[in-house]
Amino acid sequence: MELHYDVVVVGAGIAGPILSRNLAKKGYSVLMIDKKAEIGTPKRCGEGLGIEAFKKYDIPLDRRFINREIYGAAIYSPSGYRLEIRYDRVAGVILERKIFDKMLAYYAAKAGADVMAKTEAVGLIRKEGKIAGVKAKHEGEPLEIYADVIVAADGVESRVARWAGINSFLPPHEIDSAYEYEMIIENFEFDPDLIHLYFGNNIAPRGYVWIFPKDEDRANVGIGINGDNPKTAKYYLEKWLKENNIKGTKILEVNVGGVPVGGFLKELVKDNVVVVGDAARQVNPMHGGGMAEAMEAATIASKWIDKALSEENLELLKGYTEEWWAGEGQKLLRILKVRQISEKLSDDELDAAVQALSGADAEKIAAGDYKEVFKALIKHPRILLKPKM
Ligand code: FAD
Repeated sequence: MELHYDVVVVGAGIAGPILSRNLAKKGYSVLMIDKKAEIGTPKRCGEGLGIEAFKKYDIPLDRRFINREIYGAAIYSPSGYRLEIRYDRVAGVILERKIFDKMLAYYAAKAGADVMAKTEAVGLIRKEGKIAGVKAKHEGEPLEIYADVIVAADGVESRVARWAGINSFLPPHEIDSAYEYEMIIENFEFDPDLIHLYFGNNIAPRGYVWIFPKDEDRANVGIGINGDNPKTAKYYLEKWLKENNIKGTKILEVNVGGVPVGGFLKELVKDNVVVVGDAARQVNPMHGGGMAEAMEAATIASKWIDKALSEENLELLKGYTEEWWAGEGQKLLRILKVRQISEKLSDDELDAAVQALSGADAEKIAAGDYKEVFKALIKHPRILLKPKM
């Protein structure tokens, strides 16, 4: 079968549906494909999303995909110092991503985009030396999708960018290994209105253990560690559960995945191929969250795809690379620097940093305000003077 569209989007996670919806709203013919038989399932995510994303990216706050409202975070140092950041407003939500992703695809379809589940991109179509579309398999049957613009929204394991000749190789150090249980937590105190983050070199090297509550006694309990660690993320998570007397006997779901935490793609566009989200490594390197970052990239990319198609000048696609790198890219680079300092800290220094940060503006720190971190840590010069990477 042969199909023709203005834009074909590979991947219906977060970036794909936002971008498809935006372009369909502008009147372009858009086809979004995903290899999953059911969009959103299985998921690989802690499901935490800041509340501001809903308004910013025009997503309805629909009870169907919101498990729980969250009012802040509690951060624990290796020795158990606790830094609590609590707001008197909803700060974020724990989603049900299986429904969220499907609903995002529904919004894209309602805006006019076509959506095909169980359709896997297997290569690119080239005509007279130019990329002309995507070769796919729909329910096992070959499918050729011709389009002016091809969008790689195919996640951390992206192949589309590579097929187009973009070097998206990530060294293991630039990736976190993540492992997560959705589980019932018994005999362990946690405030279900907050997310809980546990730091320590023996707890989660370079990363942290998280509890993202979905209920008063049910949560995503996960861990991210440096991908080049000789031990596995599962090992560290099991160890932490055991040390905290949390029985791993009521596990509802197991999630395993890689999270790019650095190595943002320099080249976000090659000819008529545009790369967004995890495929472009557009993830916050400090906490590993990538949903809001994928939405931001999709918003910028859809603006430039609209410009390029309306002015019939595909060179304009490069505006996406420039705009992303001038704003979001610089912000993520600053956050990466903070991460590079924090990953060198000993447990004693992590204790001192958590104590020092309790006086700092948490919202500024979360937004990657390097100066705010510096101000808080100036009392601990040995932390600031740590050698960088
Ligand atoms: P994805 O959501 O990965 O979507 C890519 C889609 O492309 C998938 O649906 C896939 O099936 C499809 N696809 C891939 N290849 C093909 C192909 N060849 N053909 C067709 N379809 C294809 N982020 C947060 O913000 N908050 C969190 O709490 C959080 N927790 C996380 C916990 C874990 C364990 C992990 C692994 C990640 C977590 N993240 C979190 C990161 C977040 O999940 C990603 O950053 C986000 O999903 C990126 O969106 P995306 O659209 O770029 O990619």
